[in-house]
Amino acid sequence: ATPMSIMTATGRGAQAGVLIKNAEALERFEKIDTLIVDKTGTLTEGKPRLVAVEPAKGQDEAEVLALAAALERGSEHPLADAIVEGAKHRGLALRSASDFEAVTGKGVTGKVDGRSVALGNRAMMEALGVDAGALVNRANTRRDKGETVMFIAVEGSLAGLVSVADPVKETTPGALRALHALGFRIIMATGDNERTAKAVAARLGIDEIRADVLPADKARIIRELQGEGRKVAMAGDGVNDAPALAQADVGIAMGTGADVAIESAGITLVKGNLDGIVRARKLARATMRNIR
Ligand code: ADP
Ligand code: MG
Repeated sequence: ATPMSIMTATGRGAQAGVLIKNAEALERFEKIDTLIVDKTGTLTEGKPRLVAVEPAKGQDEAEVLALAAALERGSEHPLADAIVEGAKHRGLALRSASDFEAVTGKGVTGKVDGRSVALGNRAMMEALGVDAGALVNRANTRRDKGETVMFIAVEGSLAGLVSVADPVKETTPGALRALHALGFRIIMATGDNERTAKAVAARLGIDEIRADVLPADKARIIRELQGEGRKVAMAGDGVNDAPALAQADVGIAMGTGADVAIESAGITLVKGNLDGIVRARKLARATMRNIR
């Protein structure tokens, strides 16, 4: 590619809020055939809201939420915000937790009023030897609606579940249709539960998902696809996504996301929506066509 045509393309991109880091990113992007998209914050708004608290038998709903919120005050995860805000909204007094620990991809643990409390997914409960069976049917009903469910355990016994919903961005369905039409194979990757992931993917016409994925797995999935000869772009927004963005042939960061994601990416979508990928692809094609 000539420096001139690349400058024109990157200039046009910038005007449209698509920041292309260098000539290499643009050239590589033209050859991409597979697009991995993170769910939370990329397909969805990334601002989950508390929608339900369901206590286990004999437990108190407000107490379950109060304990969850006490733990989540120490976490910076978007799910944590949803729970703390939800508790405030219901007028609960915020208590504090000690011995707080965050377990990547699983949840959080700590002590509240001298009792050990844990909040997280099924894997978190299993790691602690807590039987979540009594609430699994209720959890699944919520997951089938696209909600993200977290279980809470107090002193090693299941106390309830909290559920949050994260709306899909208004621009996502249209952008995905355009990306499919451009010939991309699209795969959704998420740390979220498989049922929740399937429900969201079905609504968006995404037929391939990788769920229950830990941050390191996202980079591994990309390596595997590359090993099959695929040219892979990854779109993500989180701190968790940075290794995958770096592993991809082209990393695409949401401008609304974490700084480390943006630093790891070849393309940044200033507006934080996937329309920018359609734009980038068209620019890359036009530029490369002029040159050949
Ligand atoms: P994502 O790809 O959705 O950002 P994460 O790896 O951050 O995934 O989290 C995966 C799962 O681990 C969440 O869906 C949730 O069940 C659990 N989890 C992670 N962090 C927390 C937290 N702070 N509080 C409760 N649950 C959490
Ligand atoms: Mg994310």
